[in-house]
Amino acid sequence: MDFELNQEQTMFQRVVRDFCEAELKPHAAEVDEVGDMHWPAIKKMADLGLLSLQVPEQYGGAELDTLSASIAVEEIGRVCGSTGLSISAHNGLGCGPIVRWGSDAQKLAYLPQLIGGDVLGALALTEPHAGSDLLNGATTTATRDGDEWVINGQKAWITNASVAPVISVLCRTDKEAGSRGFSMILVKPDTAGVTVHPREKKMGLKGSPTHMITFENARVPLENLLGDEGSGFYQTMQTLDSGRISIGALSVGIAQGAFEEMVKYALERHAFGEPIANKQAIQWKIADAEMELEAARTLVYKASVLKDSGRDYTRMAAIAKLKASEVAEKVCFDAVQIHGSYGYSREYPVERMYRDQRLMTIGEGTSEIQRLVIARGVIKAARG
Ligand SMILES: Cc1cc2nc3c(=O)[nH]c(=O)nc-3n(C[C@H](O)[C@H](O)[C@H](O)COP(=O)(O)OP(=O)(O)OC[C@H]3O[C@@H](n4cnc5c(N)ncnc54)[C@H](O)[C@@H]3O)c2cc1C
Repeated sequence: MDFELNQEQTMFQRVVRDFCEAELKPHAAEVDEVGDMHWPAIKKMADLGLLSLQVPEQYGGAELDTLSASIAVEEIGRVCGSTGLSISAHNGLGCGPIVRWGSDAQKLAYLPQLIGGDVLGALALTEPHAGSDLLNGATTTATRDGDEWVINGQKAWITNASVAPVISVLCRTDKEAGSRGFSMILVKPDTAGVTVHPREKKMGLKGSPTHMITFENARVPLENLLGDEGSGFYQTMQTLDSGRISIGALSVGIAQGAFEEMVKYALERHAFGEPIANKQAIQWKIADAEMELEAARTLVYKASVLKDSGRDYTRMAAIAKLKASEVAEKVCFDAVQIHGSYGYSREYPVERMYRDQRLMTIGEGTSEIQRLVIARGVIKAARG
C-alpha cells in the first residue's frame, strides 16, 4: 500500500503550510491568551477548502482524500493547536456525519452554511457522567411526541458548540434496545430548551471553544433524525474511527511544531562555550524526536490511505492515534526541557504546545480505550 504523498498532495501541503505560516502562526499566542480563534483566518480557510475537506463538491466542498485531510490538520496543528482542534472537529465531527448519513435535504440545509467560514460544526456525544462508556452511561434521551423529538439531558466538553449552527446529538431513543437504542439527531443550539453553557476553562487549546449543553424538553422535528433510527451508536463508532486519524494528524502537527522550535533553540543557546546542539544528550533528544515523529506520521498516513481503500481501518486508526498522541507528549516534553527555564515561559511557543498536546491522549477516545480497541482487534484476528 502506497502512502507517499503524490504531486497534488505535496502541492496542497505547501499551500496550506504557507497559509498557516502567514495567517495563523502570528496569532497563535494571542488565540491562546484571549481564548478565542482568529476568525479572519477561519474565514479565509473557506476559500482554501480547509472547512470542507471531505465535503462533496456538489455541496460546495473540497472533496479531498483522507490523506490530504490529515495533511491539512497536521499543518494547522503545527502552528496553532487550538485552531487545529476546532478545524479537525468541524470537518470530522461536524460535517462528517451529515455528509455520511444526512438526507439530501439535510445536506442542502446545513453543509453550505457550515463550510462558509462564519460558523463551525460540532458533535455531542460525551456527557458529564459518560465518555468512554457511552453505551452504558449516556442518559440523554429523545422521545417522540407527535411530529417532534423531545430531548432531555446534558452533553459535556463539546467543541465548537457556541459557534455551530447545528449540532449532531447522540440520544437514547429506545432504552431497551442496547446499542441499537441510540439515534443521532440534528439540533440547532437556538432551539427553545437548549442551553449552551459558558466556555470551559481548560489547560490548553484555549482558543478552541468547549461547552456543556443542557437540553430541557427541547423540541425538534422528527425529520432532524440523522440516518436511521437506532443507528446512532454505530454512527458514533464510525465517526470516532475517522476522527482518530484526524487527532493523530493534529498530534503529529503539534509535535512537528515543537520539534522545529527545539532544534532552533538548541542551535541558538550556548552553554559551556558552545551551542547546546553540540551536546550529545541534546542530540539524542533531537534524534529520538525525529524518529518518533517519522513513525507517527507514517502511521497516520497509513491509516488515512487504508480508510480510503474501503477496508476496515478501526485498528489502524487507533494505532495511529495512540502512537501520535504519545509521541506528541514526549516531543513537547523534550522541547520544553531543551528550552530550560524559557520553556516554562509564555515567551516561547513550546510552553503552549506542551499544554495543547495534553488533550491528544484523552479526546476522541483515551489511550486506554485505544489499547482496548487494538487488543480486541488482535485477539479477534487470532481467534479467526
Ligand atoms: C478539549 C476537549 C474537547 C472535547 N470535544 C468533544 C466533542 O467535541 N464532542 C464530544 O462528544 N466529546 C468531546 N470531548 C470529550 C472527550 O472525548 C472525552 O473526555 C473522552 O472520550 C474521555 O471521556 P471521559 O472524560 O468521560 O473519561 P472517562 O470515560 O470517565 O475515563 C476516565 C479514565 O478512565 C479510563 N477508562 C475508562 N474506561 C476504561 C476501561 N475500560 N479500561 C481502562 N481504562 C478505562 C479512561 O481511559 C480515563 O483515563 C472533549 C474533551 C475535551 C477535554
